Amino acid sequence: MALTLFNTLGRTLQPFEPLNPGRVGFYGCGPTVYNYAHIGNLRAYVLHDVLVRTLRRAGFTVTHVMNITDVGHLSGDNDEGDDKMLKSAEERGKSVREVADLYTQRFFQDTERLNIQKPTVICKATEHIADMIALIQRIEERGFTYRAGGNLYFDITKSAGYGELGRLRLDDQKVVARVGADENKRNPQDFVLWFTKSKFEQQAMVWDSPWGRGYPGWHIECSAMSIKYLGETFDIHAGGIDHVSIHHTNEIAQSEAATGNHPWVRYWIHNEFLVLDKGKMSKSAGDFLTLQNLIDAGYDPLDYRYFLLGAHYRNQVQFSYEALESAHNARKSLLDRIRDRMKARGDPAPPLTQGKAETYLAAFNAALEDDLATPRGLAELWGLLRDPAVGAEEALKVAFTMDEVLGLNLAGATEPQTPTETPEQRMAIEGLIAERAAAKKARDFARADQIRQTLKEQGIILEDRPAGTVWRRG
Ligand code: AMP
Ligand code: ZN
Repeated sequence: MALTLFNTLGRTLQPFEPLNPGRVGFYGCGPTVYNYAHIGNLRAYVLHDVLVRTLRRAGFTVTHVMNITDVGHLSGDNDEGDDKMLKSAEERGKSVREVADLYTQRFFQDTERLNIQKPTVICKATEHIADMIALIQRIEERGFTYRAGGNLYFDITKSAGYGELGRLRLDDQKVVARVGADENKRNPQDFVLWFTKSKFEQQAMVWDSPWGRGYPGWHIECSAMSIKYLGETFDIHAGGIDHVSIHHTNEIAQSEAATGNHPWVRYWIHNEFLVLDKGKMSKSAGDFLTLQNLIDAGYDPLDYRYFLLGAHYRNQVQFSYEALESAHNARKSLLDRIRDRMKARGDPAPPLTQGKAETYLAAFNAALEDDLATPRGLAELWGLLRDPAVGAEEALKVAFTMDEVLGLNLAGATEPQTPTETPEQRMAIEGLIAERAAAKKARDFARADQIRQTLKEQGIILEDRPAGTVWRRG
């Protein structure tokens, strides 16, 4: 079966055919490094990872480019609001560079913990200012710009097909109502390519340019860096669904204006949002969960990866600790089954089942190639491991092959800890845990701590999770 992807451009499932046989150029919008990535942002990067792994499984050589936004991103994607990097640096009493370095490092720590493979090229906006200036010059030479109030703007009326990606209606009243936000703009959707004068007179990072000393608008970095590393037309561009109507729409307009090429990107992939039960998660509002929060609550980052794989990327997902707990338990029993199969490696294979494991693998690959249907992929993995007709050796081989795409680190499952407790001892431990919960409820923290200590002396570690306390041998 051939790989099929849902292309936002056209809103249809389309067979994937790369521009150059056997090779894929992929650009995924990277993080704005003014704060920790939240678990919603990380959903986007797990999707990029699954996409890249699926492409590689299908035999393509993939060049994956990711940008790091360390300049130019305002809190409103439409050139409105505060400068995210500057505001964060001021609040933290650090330089913009220090903030960028800290959160870039934290971002890659998170992606590594989630088993997300490193992109082929990681490029920082601040290290590509000359490329952005060169691209803006091409846009200007072709007559798509105007200067106003010291800034250089992109004039969307010059761009045929502007808004096609988002199916935007340019006379939309909500959009028109925002004209007042920047009086320099001739049209509400026009956007800044280069700022010299703005409300951020104290802008920390500025560069010389043909339009004066200043800094780039947010959108131009993705166009400049993707073209630099992937060429003037490339295969796939991905990002969150929020980027369809402004960021990616503007990226298309300015890239195609600069190069005269149509189309610039051939397939657009967008992930739906992860939401909290109380609604949207917002990095700028500071109301969000990080991967570290989940780790502190006693979860393994791969529990979160498993949770994400359990939903299709084009469906909105609601995060809750209950759902994460289910993912934790499911992943645990998956690892138990892998261990069981490891122990049974030497057993004779069941008769007449040659090739059965391969049918699970074929179904798994078909699921992933069907617009990255990870929930169906997981179901095939479970089917394989539950099937008594598949011998241990074969099951393990196929499970590990599936895991090259899922990234759940199944091969890392070690031999099981043989339970050293008798049923009576287990009951005693659980009795103490219940007593500790009651003590905490009665605010008798001394007793609660004493119980934790008693268990610790017996080698039992307690982990308090939102869904209750669990224990393990330390
Ligand atoms: P940012 O660091 O804000 O530029 O966002 C990084 C990526 O995360 C972008 O692709 C966003 O579209 C995506 N994103 C932001 N919020 C969410 C969310 N709640 N769920 C899924 N993706 C998100
Ligand atoms: Zn981008």
